Amino acid sequence: MNIECEYLQTCPFFNDKMASVPTAAAIMKIKYCKGNQDACARCMIKKAGLQVPDDLFPHQVDRARQLLK
Ligand code: SF4
Repeated sequence: MNIECEYLQTCPFFNDKMASVPTAAAIMKIKYCKGNQDACARCMIKKAGLQVPDDLFPHQVDRARQLLK
C-alpha cells in the first residue's frame, strides 16, 4: 500500500509543527504518512474521534492504545 494519509494536509507531525522533530521523522513520513496509516498512533486517535496529543508520534502505538482504553 502506498497511499497518502487523509490527514496529511493538516497533521502537525507531517507538517513539522510539533515541538520536537525526531531524527527519524523523514523515515516515519514514508512509513506511515505515505505508507501504512493504519499503523500510525496519531491516526488511531484521530479516527476514534479524540483529540490527538500535541506530542504523540506515529510510532507511539502503545501510548495510543492506552489513550483509547
Ligand atoms: S502522522 Fe499519522 S495522522 Fe499524521 S499524516 Fe502521518 S499517518 Fe497521517
